[in-house]
Amino acid sequence: MAQQFDVVVIGAGPGGYVAAIRAAQLGYSAACIESASYDDPKGEVRLGGTCLNVGCIPSKALLQSSEYYDMASHHFLMHGIKVDGVNMDVPSMVRRKENIVTQLTSGIRGLFKKNKVTLLAGHGSFVGSRENDMWQIEVAGKDGKQQIDAKHVIIATGSKPRQLPGIEVDNKLVCDNVGALSFDAVPKRLGVIGAGVIGLELGSVWKRLGAEVTILEALPDFLAAADAAIAKEAWKVFTAKQGLKIHLGAKIGKVTHGKGGISVPFESDNGAGVLECDKLIVSVGRVPNTDGLNAGAIGLKLDDRGRVEVNDYCQTNLANVWAVGDVVPGPMLAHKGMEEGVMVAERIAGQAGHVNHDTVPWVMYTHPEIAWVGKTEQQLKAENVAYRAGQIPFAANGRALGQGDTTGFVKMLACATTDRILGVHVIGTNASELIAEAVVAMEFGASSEDIARICHAHPTLSEAMHEAALAVDKRPLHF
Ligand code: FAD
Ligand code: NAD
Repeated sequence: MAQQFDVVVIGAGPGGYVAAIRAAQLGYSAACIESASYDDPKGEVRLGGTCLNVGCIPSKALLQSSEYYDMASHHFLMHGIKVDGVNMDVPSMVRRKENIVTQLTSGIRGLFKKNKVTLLAGHGSFVGSRENDMWQIEVAGKDGKQQIDAKHVIIATGSKPRQLPGIEVDNKLVCDNVGALSFDAVPKRLGVIGAGVIGLELGSVWKRLGAEVTILEALPDFLAAADAAIAKEAWKVFTAKQGLKIHLGAKIGKVTHGKGGISVPFESDNGAGVLECDKLIVSVGRVPNTDGLNAGAIGLKLDDRGRVEVNDYCQTNLANVWAVGDVVPGPMLAHKGMEEGVMVAERIAGQAGHVNHDTVPWVMYTHPEIAWVGKTEQQLKAENVAYRAGQIPFAANGRALGQGDTTGFVKMLACATTDRILGVHVIGTNASELIAEAVVAMEFGASSEDIARICHAHPTLSEAMHEAALAVDKRPLHF
């Protein structure tokens, strides 16, 4: 007889592994199926998905190392610290990143053991259902195939890089996120297609380490999803101060490579040109991983972009089949997937699990960092919502001055009638941490006056949040 589980999760990324752990915590027999080894030296399946293996964690490790290099090379001097002959060792940086990844992915194995989640190594796909309403799933692993039965299935198969027709990714010369996180040396000339989150984060890493970086972006607007004031400031800093070359409105022609490197002909808002580079990163968005699920066998509904169709509670069109994370519509963010995983496990247990998609924060780990939650000013205008705005530059913040990094600002948007906070946008050092206060505030339905009346430690960067709240009411104290 097939092995039976209360809950089977397909995919062990942030959405999947969290869902499996929470289901087990709630007393269910839970299994998680994962197929990828992400080049594990022993060929073993690795847990943590894109995020831990080839996404959030390794990119942030390299961002930190490259930032330290940049600081030692260019910024220590303003603090009266002279450092001669700063050298970099890219293989050590990459090794350090890999050690962090190994530590965290093995950590998830430990968490599975602790919580009694069964790991099933192999590719999971649907077979059908039994008369007793159990879903039948096939797991195709190294040692053959097995079938298991599940009362509930949570699809958490994540996403993969979108490919551009005619540009073959070999992860040597032409790379997606996987290759771009493992260069063995700094390329002299780096080309990037797509000025989104990956293009800007990874472009920044290799720019700081000395590469000449040129980014081709299809859209006419830079960072179109961000608040326009943030995008404007980011453009100024990334291009004029940091020297990233970004072409907007770019249409890419036929990409070729030969001895001299890669040639990318393009037409852009600045005219036509040819980008000549030694390595090329293609970062033009990601697509859901649903093609290997055999969704047709059970009549699972996918949308026209291949994502699993779900309602607000991540329920699919089939009873007891759920889907979370990058494989469903919504922002492709690890924390959003984890929240959905917890919600689904709790809903299976009859609890009131819930995700407020309006308060999911966005962070770009460039320098300065960019973070926001809620609505942008342009969205409020388009929705005809009357609002008041308060904006405070870090140049007016003592801690930022002490740190020698005063780039950017905090901008708060609040409803003109109720004063409820509708959006908060930060560009500046530690924006990723500062945004948490705004998320808590919005989650509790706070007004800008609530933040204005809360005591913030001095001197901290968070005082800029306090001042931005005061500025909504046109009464900042330090600006
Ligand atoms: P995934 O993490 O993609 O995991 C899905 C897993 O399912 C994979 O391991 C896959 O092998 C497995 N799988 C797929 N199909 C099957 C199958 N049929 N059988 C068995 N296993 C299967 N997000 C952030 O919030 N912050 C960041 O800083 C950030 N940085 C990023 C940097 C980069 C370079 C990239 C590429 C992404 C980044 N992201 C970031 C996005 C984040 O990685 C994803 O949103 C997150 O990993 C999605 O989680 P998931 O569980 O839905 O899917
Ligand atoms: P993205 O959607 O952020 O950016 C892709 C960019 O490529 C867009 O600006 C798009 O206009 C552009 N583009 C699309 N087709 C193009 C073409 N033919 N020529 C030139 N430009 C083109 O996607 P991404 O950077 O690939 O990242 C994928 C996802 O991973 C993101 O959506 C994000 O959710 C997630 N991610 C998050 C973080 C973070 O949270 N810090 C970091 C990295 C990735």
